Amino acid sequence: EHSGKYSGQPMKSMVSPPYGTGDAPLANGERATEPGPPFPLRLPPKAPLFSSPAAEEQPKNVDPLVLELVNTKIVERGPPVQWTDIAGQVSVKATIEEELVWPILRPGAYTGAGRPPRTILLFGPRGTGKTLLSRCISTQLGSTLLKLSGTALLSTWKAEAEKILQTVFFVASCRQPAVVLITEAEALLLARAGEDVSGLKSQLLSYLDDVSTSSEQNVVVIGTTSRPGSMDEASHRRFAKRFYISPPDSIARRQILHHALAQQSCCLSEREMSSLVQHTESFSGSELVQLCQRAGATALHGLQGQLQPTSYQDLEKAFCKVRPAASQKELDLFLEWDKLYGTRH
Ligand code: ADP
Repeated sequence: EHSGKYSGQPMKSMVSPPYGTGDAPLANGERATEPGPPFPLRLPPKAPLFSSPAAEEQPKNVDPLVLELVNTKIVERGPPVQWTDIAGQVSVKATIEEELVWPILRPGAYTGAGRPPRTILLFGPRGTGKTLLSRCISTQLGSTLLKLSGTALLSTWKAEAEKILQTVFFVASCRQPAVVLITEAEALLLARAGEDVSGLKSQLLSYLDDVSTSSEQNVVVIGTTSRPGSMDEASHRRFAKRFYISPPDSIARRQILHHALAQQSCCLSEREMSSLVQHTESFSGSELVQLCQRAGATALHGLQGQLQPTSYQDLEKAFCKVRPAASQKELDLFLEWDKLYGTRH
């Protein structure tokens, strides 16, 4: 049952699951097995390993401190995210569910051509839910989620960064199924990579190839970026699927606003809500949430001993402070990039 926040939108997949009915224990995002214990200090004897030369060295080379860092800071243990927690993106969600999630959960039932995709690039302005969607994919797969930021990795001492990346993929392969989420992935895949990037870049590209081709791997890599144009074609084409995660449309904006305002006991009239939806075009999901939070803070400020719900006037005031970061020109560039390189869905 899809009982999340934004369950009003029928998904293709809810109507016609191609791989049987909703009997899969993982269909509601619950884990098939309990999440493993924190990464074992003693490695499992038959841990599946990568075939690349770099990877063959991994078991010997795993630095216990880096392993601990990966286990405590990079392995995520956040709350589960359901499809219905993500407003909008109906077609992208359905495509990912049908082409990636189900084939991994039920390999025998997959009838598509070739191997199901294991690498996805989610591109779009900041705050549009790319990370949220990645967490959702991980929840649906019942997988271990390892999240690292491309820019953070790049600002780390080079040898250390390479060790971290290596250990991340090693832990992922030991704790399959696993999702490796690389936010701001473009930082590692720059078109004209400088010396600092190039080692990490070729390392990451070889891991992308490994997860795509190795039949023993149940590792998915998701890259997210708000600057897809800064990557070279060879790099972004390494991702089997590339989806544009756009700012929410009017239906999704209404859902996000409704949900955020309901938490502040704010009840707008239909007219006020329509006006709000109309005036928030090109706001990202995250900016919509910020707008409501700021309005809530204004309401609280004028409290004077009385409990007041957020009003439309508070929201109007918040409008002066919270503006969409992405300009129309930038949004047009995303659309152009999508036309050239995006995966149709
Ligand atoms: P990105 O990774 O694209 O920068 P995030 O996934 O980190 O964006 O989104 C930040 C927050 O904004 C989310 O945690 C959520 O609260 C809100 N948000 C963004 N997009 C959506 C959406 N489509 N549906 C619901 N909430 C959203």
